[in-house]
Amino acid sequence: MSKDIATPARTKEILAKFGFSFKKSLGQNFLIDTNILNNIVEAANITSDTGVIEVGPGIGALTEQLAKKAKKVVSFEIDQRLLPVLDETLAPYNNVKIIHSDVLKANIHEVMSEEFQGIEEVMVVANLPYYVTTPILMKLLEEHLPIKGIVVMIQAEVADRIAAKPGTKEYGALSIAAQYFAKAERVMTVPATVFVPQPRVDSAVLRLTIRDEPAVKVTDEPYFFKVFHACFANRRKTILNNLVHNLGPKEKKQEIEEALSEAAIDPKRRGETLSLEEFGRLSESLLKRLP
Ligand code: SAM
Repeated sequence: MSKDIATPARTKEILAKFGFSFKKSLGQNFLIDTNILNNIVEAANITSDTGVIEVGPGIGALTEQLAKKAKKVVSFEIDQRLLPVLDETLAPYNNVKIIHSDVLKANIHEVMSEEFQGIEEVMVVANLPYYVTTPILMKLLEEHLPIKGIVVMIQAEVADRIAAKPGTKEYGALSIAAQYFAKAERVMTVPATVFVPQPRVDSAVLRLTIRDEPAVKVTDEPYFFKVFHACFANRRKTILNNLVHNLGPKEKKQEIEEALSEAAIDPKRRGETLSLEEFGRLSESLLKRLP
């Protein structure tokens, strides 16, 4: 059995053999520390019954550790240059499938029903490309995929915003969007030294456990998203002002005031103080008043 991919020496050897040069524009920062990888795999509770979706295998560092524990790993890679590399580095594992695709354009529902037949528990596990962290996470959540959870390495600052509680400076539209679908926890902080090349920002592992039902019941999900995004359009403005200027054009000031009153929310409060439940109530009250 050859050495793990995720060691500085083996990674260097693989990169040299294939003459691979990193593309910054694709967020290519590869992990070279098996301890960190094991922590990620452990945080995702992978067993021999688990199916795993990975985004961006790189040269296969995380894919390899997942393949050792999981029933099957399906991994989306955008960079064609990595396909021959992965063919070789992952050759010892017969439970890995690499799909050459931009994950943002992929039909993940279809891939899951084709690739995970007979597998009941699916986790998404990835060291995400940082330039598209939020769109990837929102796609995974908004598409209501039949997954149990998501464990990802992302920028520490984004992990903090996703897991933030009301009343903190990190709390915003991203916290609400993610926490509406999932329970969010920051699992660990990761130093830049475990990557090659080293990213300029701190990293953290985030775990999202998908809720059986979204955190609040709303009649119209896209409208609920529109409402809380409007409330955070300008953080210094009150919710009333934000809604008047950023929700419309159908919602007029008087109806917005009535809706806030019905939802028992002081119009002078700022978006960052409202809980998910309050945003849910507000969205329902506004929806009722739409002409
Ligand atoms: N998993 C590897 C590791 O931990 O060493 C590599 C992680 S690296 C941070 C991100 C990977 O995502 C790169 O391999 C990059 O080419 C790939 N990638 C970037 N954008 C992507 C996209 N839109 N869809 C799929 N893969 C993407």
